[in-house]
Amino acid sequence: MAILVLGGAGYIGSHTVDRMINQGYDVVVVDNLLTGHRQAVHNKARFYQGDCRDRDFMREVFKVEPIEGVVHFAASSLVGESVENPLKYFNNNVVGMEALLEVMEEFDVKHIVFSSTAATYGEPEVSPISEDTPTNPKNPYGESKLMMEKMMKWCDEAYGMRYVALRYFNVAGAKSDASIGEDHDPETHLVPIILQVALGQRDYLTIFGEDYDTPDGTCIRDYVQVEDLADAHILALEYLKAGNASEVFNLGSNNGYSVKEMLDAARQVTNKEIPAVMGPRRAGDPSTLVASSEKAKNLLGWKPEYTDIQAIIKTAWNWHVQHPEGYQDK
Ligand code: UDP
Repeated sequence: MAILVLGGAGYIGSHTVDRMINQGYDVVVVDNLLTGHRQAVHNKARFYQGDCRDRDFMREVFKVEPIEGVVHFAASSLVGESVENPLKYFNNNVVGMEALLEVMEEFDVKHIVFSSTAATYGEPEVSPISEDTPTNPKNPYGESKLMMEKMMKWCDEAYGMRYVALRYFNVAGAKSDASIGEDHDPETHLVPIILQVALGQRDYLTIFGEDYDTPDGTCIRDYVQVEDLADAHILALEYLKAGNASEVFNLGSNNGYSVKEMLDAARQVTNKEIPAVMGPRRAGDPSTLVASSEKAKNLLGWKPEYTDIQAIIKTAWNWHVQHPEGYQDK
């Protein structure tokens, strides 16, 4: 039997596929390659290029492949873009999920692990954030992911389709041998941008606001290493396979780092100056997002290997040094 990974050519998807193959899973990848990279997909995974909104294409994949479970990463994921173009997010993310659930129901596939986000919480006052913190998304991206979670919940009620929604906080790093890593175009994320400055590909980092209510005035986030995040998906599949009930889990580290602390850590790792300038706040950025991941640790048995922020950044740095232009397939 096989696991279908939708969006398996993306950043987190490709690391999850890699970990799954190395643990002996039979893996089928579907990706439309709009943002993913064919080269990022492990050569032992069977690859189909297509879109999960295309029901006929999806039916063909489910017909040919012995799929027993799905890991769903395929979605648009830029907060700013979602504010500018909400319908893109409701189409790609929500309509995509509806089509997927329809085909899963047709083929009697009952397990789905879903890539959700801390953006479902909005800007909660509490820290760290646990799963019972009320959801209140502040942008169409977070809203679309929360809608997708709710669609799975009602499909569980109606069809007994069980799900695990993994609400990620911030993810960073690359595979420890630097063979796969993060490559977005355009790049908007803090760690790759800092490292592109260290490589001389950008002149400086712009820090988005230093007037937040935090010790150094810059935003605080909770960074998880991508391989640790990938492992949580495999544990979630095993959790469903063991017959457990649908659940939502936060994935973070319980540790927050400010933008300035991340910059200092990257300076240590790279031994480069990394110039930075202050800029205005970025729309929609909450001041502090730190996860409590006790539930994932207790129920999934998740044990993140990387606890040191410099070690996380080092894996990203190795990837950027070895692949300064990313996958070079666009
Ligand atoms: N950030 C920044 N400059 C950049 C990119 C990001 O100051 O060029 C900040 C951003 O405001 C946020 C943190 O870095 O506080 C992490 O941003 P990222 O886009 O990596 O992830 P997000 O928290 O939006 O998921």
